[in-house]
Amino acid sequence: MTTQTNRQWRLAQRPQGPVSDENFDLVEEAVSEARDGQALVRVHYLSMDPTIRGWMQHDTYLPKIEEGAVIRGLGVGEVVASNSDRYTVGDLVSGLTGWQEYVIADSGRNRLQVLPAGTDPLDAVGLFGPTGLAAYFGLLDVGRPAEGETVLVSGAAGATGSVAGQIARIKGCRVVGTAGSDDKCAMVVDEYGFDACINYRSEDLRGRVREACPDGIDVFFDNVGGDILEVALNNLALHARVVICGAISQYDGTPPHGPRNYMQLVVRRARMEGFLVFDHTSRYPDAIADLARWAAEGAIRHRVDVVEGIEQVPAAFQRLFTGDNVGKNAVRLV
Ligand code: NAP
Repeated sequence: MTTQTNRQWRLAQRPQGPVSDENFDLVEEAVSEARDGQALVRVHYLSMDPTIRGWMQHDTYLPKIEEGAVIRGLGVGEVVASNSDRYTVGDLVSGLTGWQEYVIADSGRNRLQVLPAGTDPLDAVGLFGPTGLAAYFGLLDVGRPAEGETVLVSGAAGATGSVAGQIARIKGCRVVGTAGSDDKCAMVVDEYGFDACINYRSEDLRGRVREACPDGIDVFFDNVGGDILEVALNNLALHARVVICGAISQYDGTPPHGPRNYMQLVVRRARMEGFLVFDHTSRYPDAIADLARWAAEGAIRHRVDVVEGIEQVPAAFQRLFTGDNVGKNAVRLV
């Protein structure tokens, strides 16, 4: 094993503006051996998540990534050697593998989750990964939608937004989305079953939200922040719930913007609340059981947009901020 190489993407420099290739270095080192209590994992898929952009720049809910360190990121892989009771060769595992081909897992800080036998690795990255689970907990626990209510979802064609909107449909809500192209909007309506979708780049966002949500927005599931958050706050129904899942428009070096009209929360007696999917780990099995059942019934559709090869990781990551990904953005390494 020690003669094999492990290619890794490391943080070359912190991004100041939009993330670019210069922020990353591809480095090769020898594959480590699994010592007592450790296992060696071959990473098969890396999950491209917008939150990594924050980790590259500053402290968030996790400390920032050190310059020169392997980029922190979620992955799914297979145990290829084990000196640990926790891991068996052939196990599929997921967790913070980092952007690299091999990782050492243990039962402490570098612990990975052993997935049930038969799990599809693409499901582990997507529908049953942090984006699908964020949609589940954010919509149901924070948004608490009731039948007949109107739910607006920003980033509706994306991994998180598409699932949040479909769960809202399952709960009997009227669902409106926003997305960045006509093709994405068509997919959101035709494939994901939203009632309407607004192209925020080409349409009059203010007018179209008012038109598509004539009785106001009961739940706003926000992945984007900035302008769309302001427009949504101006269109809330009484006692609305604003779920702050993320704010991708604010991540990639743009000056923070809005909301200036947060007093609409008072006017509409509304609640705005953020959440982190990682706070709900004890309930992941229940959520995955629901998501799996809905997917099997055809009530939830899910796309994974796979880019091939470790060399492509920085380019794949940048697609999140240009809108070039269609569905869950992931890279296949094996
Ligand atoms: P995604 O939605 O699959 O992909 C990102 C999408 O964001 C892009 O395809 C693009 O779609 C849109 N976008 C990028 N820049 C934008 C801008 N300036 N204005 C409007 N839209 C923009 O990504 P994801 O992984 O599912 O993440 C979506 C959100 O969920 C992020 O904010 C992320 O931080 C959040 N999240 C939160 C949690 C949590 O625990 N709270 C967990 C997972 C994810 P368009 O073509 O439509 O512009």
